[in-house]
Amino acid sequence: MTNFEPKKLNKNWTIKDSISTYGIDKWGEKYFSINSDGNISITPNRKSKKKVDLYKLVKEIKSREINTPLIIRFNDILEDRITEINNAFSQAIETYNYKNIYQGVFPIKCNQQKNVLEKIIEYGDRWDLGLEVGSKSELLIGLSILENQKSLLICNGYKDKKYIETAILARKLGKQPILVIEQRDEVQRIIEAVKDLKATPILGIRSKLSSESSGRWGKSVGDNSKFGLSIPEIMLTIKELKEANLINEMMLLHFHVGSQISDISVIKDALQEASQIFVELSKLGAPMKYIDVGGGLGIDFDGTKTSSNTSTNYSLQNYANDVIATVKDICEVNNIQHPIIISESGRAIISHCSVLIFNVLGTSHVSSKVKVSDQKKQSLIITNLIETLNQLKIKSLRDKKEDLSEIIELWNDAKKFKEDCLVAFRLGFICLEERAYAEELTWACAKEIANNLDNDEITHPDLSEITNTLASTYYANLSVFKSIPDTWAINQVFPIVPIHRHLEEPFCKGNFADLTCDSDGKLNSFIDNGKIKSLLNLHRPEKNNDYLIGIFMAGAYQEALGNFHNLFGNTNIIHIDINEDNSYKIKSIIKENSKSEILELLNYSSDNLVESIRVKTESAINNKTLTIQEARKLIDQIETSLRKSSYLSE
Ligand SMILES: *Cc1c(COP(=O)(O)O)cnc(C)c1O
Repeated sequence: MTNFEPKKLNKNWTIKDSISTYGIDKWGEKYFSINSDGNISITPNRKSKKKVDLYKLVKEIKSREINTPLIIRFNDILEDRITEINNAFSQAIETYNYKNIYQGVFPIKCNQQKNVLEKIIEYGDRWDLGLEVGSKSELLIGLSILENQKSLLICNGYKDKKYIETAILARKLGKQPILVIEQRDEVQRIIEAVKDLKATPILGIRSKLSSESSGRWGKSVGDNSKFGLSIPEIMLTIKELKEANLINEMMLLHFHVGSQISDISVIKDALQEASQIFVELSKLGAPMKYIDVGGGLGIDFDGTKTSSNTSTNYSLQNYANDVIATVKDICEVNNIQHPIIISESGRAIISHCSVLIFNVLGTSHVSSKVKVSDQKKQSLIITNLIETLNQLKIKSLRDKKEDLSEIIELWNDAKKFKEDCLVAFRLGFICLEERAYAEELTWACAKEIANNLDNDEITHPDLSEITNTLASTYYANLSVFKSIPDTWAINQVFPIVPIHRHLEEPFCKGNFADLTCDSDGKLNSFIDNGKIKSLLNLHRPEKNNDYLIGIFMAGAYQEALGNFHNLFGNTNIIHIDINEDNSYKIKSIIKENSKSEILELLNYSSDNLVESIRVKTESAINNKTLTIQEARKLIDQIETSLRKSSYLSE
C-alpha cells in the first residue's frame, strides 16, 4: 500500500478528472487528449479526424524489440506546425493588406537530426521555407540539403574567412545565402573575400536592440549583449560597405531577442525599434529588402496563456499580426516599400511533434505502517510519539470535521519529538532501533493526517512537509542529462503525464529519479495550472505491466544539448506517419547507441577492452581464483553487453 492510497478508491473517477489533473485540455492544444480506453491519444491536425492511441503504439513498437526510453516523432504534427505558422502570417498579411510575403527559415540548432531537417524542408517547400545556420558545420548541412532555389539560407554566428568564402561561393550554386554581419571584424573579412573571389554575397546586419527583454534570456539582448552591432557600429559598417562598393548587397536587418519570449510587449518594443533601424538603413542607401525578426516565438507549456516562464500571453496569430502590423506602420509613415518578413522560429515549429517515453523501473516510499508496542521500558520520546499517533487516530475515527489547528498542533508535536529523538541518538541516549521506531511513528502520524484532510488542507503551509514526507520516488529508465537536459540546466518545465491508465485515479504522489548517479538527475517540477509543483499524481505501478510516462513538447533543443553523463547514450527514435484509417506507418527508426558505440566516442576500443579483461581472467585462472568456465561466462556477458543498450532492459 502506498502512502496516499485513499481508504476508498474513487470508483467515479473519469477521463475528465484525469484531463484536469494533468491540465491536458490546457497545454495539449488539439494534438493531445485522452481516449475512451484511458490512453493518451494523438491527433495530428485540426482538420483530420485521424487519431492514434499512444499507449498501443508504444506497446507495438516495443514488441519489435525497440525499447524505452524512446522518442516518437509524429511527422503529421510537424507538418501541421509549419502549416499553422505560415497560415498565421498569410492571414495577417491579408488582414493588414501588407504588400509583401512572409518567408520563414528553420534554425538548425533547435534540432540538427537529418531525418528532422529533411521533413521540415519537405513540408516547408510550399512556402519556400529556408534554414538558419550558426556555424560552419550547420552551413554545410544547409548547403547539402536545401534544394529549393528560392529558399533562404541565413548565415549567422561567428564567421571566419572560410565560412564567408563558402557562403559566397554557394551563391554561384544558385543558393540564396545571406551573410549576416554580427561582429565588426567580419566586415573586413567579407571585403577581402569579395576581392579574392570576385563574387559578392547578399549581406545582412544584426542589430543589438536596446529594448529590454524579459524571461530567461532577458539579459541576452540590450547594449551589452553578446551578438549584433551597436548603432555606432552599424553606421561605421555602412560607411565601409559604401567605400568597398558593397552597399548594394546590404539587404537584410536581423535581430533576435532570445528564446521563449513570454510577453508580447517585449516583442512589440523590439519590432518597433528594429523597424526604425530598417527605415534608417534604407535612407542611408542600402536596398533593404528583408527584415528578419529572429526566434523567440514561444509555446504555451502550461496552457495558462500568461507571461510566466512556461507560457506566452499571446497566440501564434497575435504574434504574426504584431509583426506584420508594426513593420507596415513604420514603413508607411516613412514611405518605404514593405520588406519580405523572415522569422527564425525554431521552438515553435519543432517542440510539439516529439514525445519522449520512458518506463518506470520501480518506486520507493517511506513505510507508514508501524507496529505500536506498549513495552514498559521505552524512552519517554517514543511514548510521546505513540501518544500523538493515538490522538490522531482518535480524531480520524470521529465523523465530524476536525479543527485544522488541532491537527497542526499534533503534527508540530510529532516533529518536535522526532527532532528530540535525533538529538538523543547523537548523544547516545537511544539506540538505532529506537531511532528507526521514532521515524516510523512520525511517518505514521503524517499518513494519518494525509488520510483525514482534504487536499487543500494538506497544502496549508504548516502541513506542507507532510506531502513531501510521504511522497514516492519513481525510478525512471532515463537519463535527464541525455534526454531532457533543460530541466536540469535551466529548470525548464515540460508537461509530464502517464500515457495510459486514465480510467483510474492516480492517487500516489511522487517525483522521478533518473538512472544517473548524479543527485541532480531527477524530475521534480511539474505543471499545475500555471504554478509549479514538486509532486505529480501518479498511479501505483502494476507488477507485470510497464508503467509508461510521456514527456511532451520537448522536441526543441533537448536532443541537441543532451550529453553522455554516466555514459547513457542516445535513445531509440522513431518517426511515425499517421494514415487516414488511424493506422500508422513507421517511417524510420534510428537505433539507440550500444555501449560499445558510446565507449568508442571516448576513444575506448571495445576489442581492447575485452582483451584487457581477458588477460586479467587468465591470471586469475592461474591463481585458481577463477575457473575456466567462470572466465568464459564473464567474457561472454561483457561481449554481449557491449552490443546492447546503455539503458535498463526488462
Ligand atoms: C536560437 C536562435 C533562434 C531560435 O529561437 P527559437 O526561440 O527557438 O525560435 C533563432 N535565431 C537565432 C539567431 C538564434 O540564436
